[in-house]
Amino acid sequence: MWRVSTLLNEPTGTTGTQTGFVEPAPSALLLLGQGRDLASERGVECTGALPAPSDPDLVERARAARAALGDRAFVLGHHYQRDEVIDFADVTGDSFKLAREAAARPEAEFVIFCGVHFMAESADILTSDAQQVVLPDLAAGCSMADMAEIGQVEEAWAVLQDAGIADEVVPVTYMNSSAAIKAFTGRHGGTVCTSSNAQVALRWAFDRVGGVDGNGKVLFMPDQHLGRNTAVRQLGMSLDDCVVFDPRKPMGGLTTQQLRDARMILWRGHCSVHGRFSERNVADVRAAVPGVTVMVHPECKNEVVSAADLVGSTEFIIKALDAAEPGSSWAIGTELNLVRRLAKAHPDKQVHYLDSTVCFCSTMNRIDLPHLVWAMESLVAGRVVNRIVVDADDAHWARVALDQMLALPGI
Ligand code: SF4
Repeated sequence: MWRVSTLLNEPTGTTGTQTGFVEPAPSALLLLGQGRDLASERGVECTGALPAPSDPDLVERARAARAALGDRAFVLGHHYQRDEVIDFADVTGDSFKLAREAAARPEAEFVIFCGVHFMAESADILTSDAQQVVLPDLAAGCSMADMAEIGQVEEAWAVLQDAGIADEVVPVTYMNSSAAIKAFTGRHGGTVCTSSNAQVALRWAFDRVGGVDGNGKVLFMPDQHLGRNTAVRQLGMSLDDCVVFDPRKPMGGLTTQQLRDARMILWRGHCSVHGRFSERNVADVRAAVPGVTVMVHPECKNEVVSAADLVGSTEFIIKALDAAEPGSSWAIGTELNLVRRLAKAHPDKQVHYLDSTVCFCSTMNRIDLPHLVWAMESLVAGRVVNRIVVDADDAHWARVALDQMLALPGI
């Protein structure tokens, strides 16, 4: 018997025995698979009085420090952050929206970035020299961004030069990359993109080398899936137009002819969170939930986005849920903190998580309330901790690439 239950410690008003059937609570996130495997801890749910998720004393300290900082600080919260952190964010958004918000607050002395390292770097690049950007935990990196290092990218460019095609290649880097790689992109006439504007950015890039139907190429870093999905689904290219450049192999593991024939040269990188979703997950949820709409992020594999009903950025996913009919059923393939928050915000809809296992972004989760309190209390005491500073030359060229993105049509 297939049974769904609420996630983790959200009370359901039911006791959930090993043999009983528990109706899904309409206001809670439904975790595909939970409740089916009754011999494991995935088959059980927490009920009754539970401790608060955050220490109330710590919440009070956070409130006091935030009040003491007032307008001197501006707190940004990425959608994938924990609820206890989002509660203190002045604005929430995806990386693109937060970069713009940071740039639009010149009066804030401190920008406290509750997100990951590359986002804080972008905030430092886009804010004035008088502003200081703080990342509450320096260990909050991004495994995808770490899959492309500047030395590897420079070596890859040398391979393209040796193949005689560098002049017909425009680099496009996803926001989820280091400042050094954004700077590389700026120096070589390319642009940054996000999951919201990848199609526009790629069209712009191809227009610089003969158009989408020409012979020019894009070197897309570091997320192969976003690059492939955008090229195939939105630009009408074929999978054969795309090759994957593996920086750990000589010549990226490609022949000169393969590089010359390619239109999209995709860096071998991926998101460890979105890369987990599979076609099987989509098939399972369709079988279990009649009429469900499957919506996934474009960082998912091509076979997953092909099997889904809707594909879009986190901002797209949020808007789609807002506009959905009451009573409708959704299975969402993106980071779990966001999906869980959406489930709470939409008690009139059934929101399922598109995986049978819990999958938070572990690096996003490094930012927790203790780190945020420590960062804010330090600022109150006159100490700037964990400041993110991009070196001046990289900052200049990365800004060129970011400004190019902000100047794209329709952005
Ligand atoms: S969700 Fe993926 S891309 Fe986003 S920060 Fe985590 S690892 Fe990086």
